[in-house]
Amino acid sequence: MRILVIGAGVGGISIARGLLRDGHDVTVFERRPDVQAGGGAVTIWSNGATVLRQLGVDMDGAGQALSTVRVMTSAGHGLATLDLSAIANRMGEQVRQVPRRILLERLLEGFPAECILCNAHAVGVVRECDGARIEFADGSHADGDLVIGADGLHSMVRGVVGADRAVPTGWCSWQGLTALPDGIDRHVAFVVIGEHGNLGLWPAGSEVQWWFDLPWSPDFVRPERPIDMLRSNFTGWTEPTDRVLAMLTDDDLAHSPYPHFRHPIPPSGHGALTLVGDAAHTMPPTLAQGTNQALLDTMVLCKALSDVRREAHGDLTGALRRYEKTRRRRAAAVSRVASLQVSHGEAVLRPAAMLSDRFMTWALSTFLRSVSHRRMADDINRDLAASTTCRQR
Ligand SMILES: Cc1cc2nc3c(=O)[nH]c(=O)nc-3n(C[C@H](O)[C@H](O)[C@H](O)COP(=O)(O)OP(=O)(O)OC[C@H]3O[C@@H](n4cnc5c(N)ncnc54)[C@H](O)[C@@H]3O)c2cc1C
Repeated sequence: MRILVIGAGVGGISIARGLLRDGHDVTVFERRPDVQAGGGAVTIWSNGATVLRQLGVDMDGAGQALSTVRVMTSAGHGLATLDLSAIANRMGEQVRQVPRRILLERLLEGFPAECILCNAHAVGVVRECDGARIEFADGSHADGDLVIGADGLHSMVRGVVGADRAVPTGWCSWQGLTALPDGIDRHVAFVVIGEHGNLGLWPAGSEVQWWFDLPWSPDFVRPERPIDMLRSNFTGWTEPTDRVLAMLTDDDLAHSPYPHFRHPIPPSGHGALTLVGDAAHTMPPTLAQGTNQALLDTMVLCKALSDVRREAHGDLTGALRRYEKTRRRRAAAVSRVASLQVSHGEAVLRPAAMLSDRFMTWALSTFLRSVSHRRMADDINRDLAASTTCRQR
């Protein structure tokens, strides 16, 4: 099939990589002049790592493998210690904190550069009887059997499929990466929750991903010296936080804040058009699942399209609707949990301190397993292993 993908973020490149692997003719259109991931780091949980392995992406040495997440209150009381090594043992892949630029570099290793066209700003998509057409800002167009919208949070394609726009959740993150201060255990991530905000320090290799979450509204006025505002809100929360705050300058906050948005999960589409990644289900970063959900979209959509090729009279639009249906319930569950206010108020979380760390770790890994299409992932892993063995023979 000739498949056109709009957007060269993690969602667009991963779906393109999977479709190329499966023998399709794929072109990715990106409005920016180059393919570069900005922002800080993302957490690749075991569910996302499984898909990266299926795509043949080598994550060895990328970012930082984490063993533990410690969650505490701003007054220093422990709320939970999550054992990420136990989650990795249960789900089969390590949990990593990876700078986005490194994740994109790894996804692009071995990816044919000629399959990505930059400076290609899509302004419309038209369904046709035998496929779909993308229209670009310069007046040109491209025709394909299928168009995939991987154009992120404020997706144009989302409007074409008739889905609602993203709504702000009332929170934002001031975030970025900075050199890891001495004396911080690089396997341990921290989340600290106060009455009116929260912060995270997650080692990502030689750097640390920091975030400071505060309330936000559309009439928010950016302070002249945001670092002073962060210091007045968060100084004294933990000793490593004070060290990071002392290192940061207003320049480090130049791209922040990032308001949190949430999409209503779209209803089934129609025609040869579908969505992946943030275009389909932007969610608050609370569970750090956005990238992982984009990777799961890749796995399920590639599988649905492979099944069409195996059928004698393959039904492409039927396969797209199956993909959307398969993903909808799981993505909605993750988005719902990510939107709970638990991380935004110490008081709401205090009862959690009464639960054992073992139970909390088990609950998180059980939730992740339940939303990760484990059976499909196992089948694909088996198929890929069998085809590798065949090729070696
Ligand atoms: C503050 C914050 C922290 C986060 N932390 C995490 C985390 O820890 N873990 C995690 O898993 N996720 C995290 N996420 C979410 C994660 O970043 C996204 O879920 C992920 O990047 C989705 O990628 P995507 O490819 O769908 O969208 P994007 O990365 O937004 O890519 C969309 C691409 O489409 C291009 N584009 C847009 N419109 C057009 C057009 N009309 N024509 C052509 N090209 C177009 C854009 O230029 C861009 O390159 C976080 C998000 C935020 C905001």
